[in-house]
Amino acid sequence: MRRTITILAVVLAVIAAGVVFHVRRSAPSGDVRITAAPSKIVIVGIDGLDWSRVNRLADEGRMPNLARMRSEGASGILHSIRPFVSPTIWTSIATGKTEEKHGISGFLVNAASRGDASPTTSNMRKVKAVWQILSAAEWSVGVIGWLVTYPADAVNGYLISSHVTLALSAKLELRAPNQTDEWLNDGVYPSGLWSEVADNVYHEEDVGDSIIQSFIATSPDRAMKEEKIRTSGLARFYASDMTSLTLARHFFKTQPADFSAVYFRGSDMTSHFFWRFMEPESWKRELSAEAVETFSPVVERYYALADSLLGEVLELVDSDAIVLLISDHGFAGHRGYRGFEGDVAVGVEMHREDGILFVNGPGIKRGERIKGASVLDVTPTVLALAGLPVARDMDGRPLTEAMSGVFLERHPVVYIDSYEVGGAPDGDLTPVESPIDDEIKEMLRSLGYID
Ligand SMILES: [Zn+2]
Repeated sequence: MRRTITILAVVLAVIAAGVVFHVRRSAPSGDVRITAAPSKIVIVGIDGLDWSRVNRLADEGRMPNLARMRSEGASGILHSIRPFVSPTIWTSIATGKTEEKHGISGFLVNAASRGDASPTTSNMRKVKAVWQILSAAEWSVGVIGWLVTYPADAVNGYLISSHVTLALSAKLELRAPNQTDEWLNDGVYPSGLWSEVADNVYHEEDVGDSIIQSFIATSPDRAMKEEKIRTSGLARFYASDMTSLTLARHFFKTQPADFSAVYFRGSDMTSHFFWRFMEPESWKRELSAEAVETFSPVVERYYALADSLLGEVLELVDSDAIVLLISDHGFAGHRGYRGFEGDVAVGVEMHREDGILFVNGPGIKRGERIKGASVLDVTPTVLALAGLPVARDMDGRPLTEAMSGVFLERHPVVYIDSYEVGGAPDGDLTPVESPIDDEIKEMLRSLGYID
């Protein structure tokens, strides 16, 4: 009832004001000033892209799509928050809140009932994610591969959890013959969508030699190097990212949403394995000259791939959409290391504070440099861009310095106390089990995140 009245009020207000914006949404609560919103918002999330390196590669013409976003929009360091743990940070990005409030503390959590550590799951998140807030405001949403989204939240649209993209791209079900596909229903929304997802997946086993070769320096004993690069997980990360892209190609077309988000993990994972060959002088252990020669190009070539993934997504997006390109943290090769299998050492110590934010589209300033932006600011900024209220219980702020004066005049930032009806719940402390839990832990182990 209230919603109907609100919509009516908006329509009347818009007619009265002669506003030409296409209005099709209502704010979630009646005491809020309604503003007409831009047509579409897209988040491209790329894990672990470092601010300094992307800017240098953009200057050198090796990240042309990012360079274009930089010149046509607003950009700046997206400061991460400690601990630099991706599930925690991506959840802060999606909620505008610190770990203390959202409750996602890392990759794994000890499940008392099972006596073992399990991957953290979305039911443990104590507060609403931006896709839930937008859904309640009648925005259609589509989310692909965002971390800690299993089991999938019910949304006004679709959500494909990172559990599912990982399982399907690596064909992990094949390794667990005793498991049924039932759990996949919980990994996507709406339930049952996974078979359509499975039809649009890029499989790890389809990553051919020429793709692997394109990341490394050519050399006579290529076979050995390819074997090594495969075991390092490059094929899996590549397949995972190509799966996110393939799913975006499919679902952006078949189920176009007002708010879309797609997450790519490969740049972070590739950096963990190969950064040391790019900066061998910062590596505390000896590396063979041959290995350095072979693997030194991998990280920057993967950055270039990330740029082309961005370019592909931009192709899928309406020209009047507001696009935010973000990473959750930067990367460096000269922090403390933990050893893994002799010559490989990796872990969250390699993460650093300087992630990236590039935003452009209608209402965004051109060539603007944003200072002091935080991962906590993404959700408040998205809400402000959507013409929806920012919640006072969020820890970030809307980045109004990126928005044009005209935009802010038409869409002044409005606030509500909270989107948590009746206060934030305590959260369910029990992680939801899935058949790929062991695979996820093995991947985390190989990255040096866990022992
Ligand atoms: Zn990482």
